[in-house]
Amino acid sequence: MSIDKAEDLDTFMEGVISRNPGEPEFHQAVHEVAMDIIPFIADKPAYKDMRILERMTEPDRVVSFRVVWEDDQGELRVNRGFRVQQNNSIGPYKGGIRFHPSVNQGVLKFLAFEQVFKNSLTGLPLGGGKGGANFDPKGRSDDEVMRFCQAFMTELQRHIGPDTDVPAGDIGVGAREVGFLFGQYKRLVNRFEGVLTGKALDFGGSHIRTEATGYGAVYMMEKMLSHHNEHLEDRTCLVSGSGNVATYCAEKLIENGARVLTLSDSGGVIYAKDGITTEHLEYVKELKNKRRGRIKEAADEFGLKFYKGKTPWGIAGELVFPCATQNEIDVKDAKVLIKNGARAVCEGANMPTTPDAIHIFSSVKDLLHAPAKAANAGGVAVSGLEMSQNSLRLKWSETEVDERLRQIMVDIHDECVEHGVQKGGHVDYSKGANIAGFTKVANAMLAYGVM
Ligand code: NDP
Repeated sequence: MSIDKAEDLDTFMEGVISRNPGEPEFHQAVHEVAMDIIPFIADKPAYKDMRILERMTEPDRVVSFRVVWEDDQGELRVNRGFRVQQNNSIGPYKGGIRFHPSVNQGVLKFLAFEQVFKNSLTGLPLGGGKGGANFDPKGRSDDEVMRFCQAFMTELQRHIGPDTDVPAGDIGVGAREVGFLFGQYKRLVNRFEGVLTGKALDFGGSHIRTEATGYGAVYMMEKMLSHHNEHLEDRTCLVSGSGNVATYCAEKLIENGARVLTLSDSGGVIYAKDGITTEHLEYVKELKNKRRGRIKEAADEFGLKFYKGKTPWGIAGELVFPCATQNEIDVKDAKVLIKNGARAVCEGANMPTTPDAIHIFSSVKDLLHAPAKAANAGGVAVSGLEMSQNSLRLKWSETEVDERLRQIMVDIHDECVEHGVQKGGHVDYSKGANIAGFTKVANAMLAYGVM
């Protein structure tokens, strides 16, 4: 069913679901956007008649490919790689690469769709894409990871380029993997160019890129609170995950005087009643990035509580930062968080809250909720700044990049307020982010005509 004939959201979603069978995460991401955009365009015939929202749900292209590599025992392994190039109306495709056994086309389409809105919100000239493979780097040696990355890039390189599509890291793709991927790209095309972001500082990376998503989420929380005449200091915080986003989110919270009670991984959660310290955090970074160990080891090392198989959401805390993965907060968790006095939720991970849990959050008057596409846009924003520095053949200082990041997060916050403020002053940050992100891309698509 096409959008111009769609009476309502349900009709529109029936069309999306029938065109994209078996992709529940993608349906969920589109639904979250369509809920706000369908009413917004109801009296805007230009967007409706040109079927802009319907067109935005169709990726420009999806590439799927075989990745064959050899493990340390000499056995051949076969994985599947993808790149979803969702929309390049306002700039080259941009979005991370995820290596995780749960990766499939539907998951990457959800992430690519979200990325379009997020990148638009940053105010930088960045389109949206996402890629990855169903490869699990956990338990693999450095040599195995290198061989996988080289095999993956051998195919991916023909679809990307500094003005075409510029990938970055995501779950399972950190500094080590970006190094292997960039090295193989450079070898194959015989050019040193800014085709990946998240590179190390020695070969074209930007200061603050590693920290950007976590720091950005904290800047967003700070701004949401100050907009409501509150502040971060002394607030209790629940952070999930112990990867890139989680550790730098915790770092910035600690620096700003907040008390971080938790970190987690898929094995369980650690709880520090008096707050995670800088010493704990440095240990966790080394544990996760170098030794590739489990979060339980941090509990054992410092005598902290460890709850096996649990998430942070059963612990009482005021500020909630889901920074691990999609759908990690469900209805039950949302109810417990609210009962325990949660004041604000800032989504470091992509789509970490199920639709029913979002509904619970939005039913609580005055609970602040920054959706992922606004709250975690700091990572892609600094990736955009890394692209600018690569093009200029310049490197900006740490302070300069951090100031730009902070300003971008403040601007995103203010755009959400502009488009999401309700009667009585309550801000619907999701609605604000969806409308602000949509409008720029939609206007560019209108300008290009029918394509
Ligand atoms: P990392 O791989 O560095 O860390 C992921 C963390 O989440 C690990 O602690 C991991 O634990 C945990 N995790 C992953 N899957 C699950 C699961 N199914 N259940 C419980 N825990 C899980 O990834 P990032 O920190 O880079 O990414 C985290 C989130 O942030 C993702 O949603 C990503 O898309 C999003 N994001 C990341 C950006 C970036 O710049 N890196 C930018 C914007 C968004 P374990 O080791 O046990 O798997």
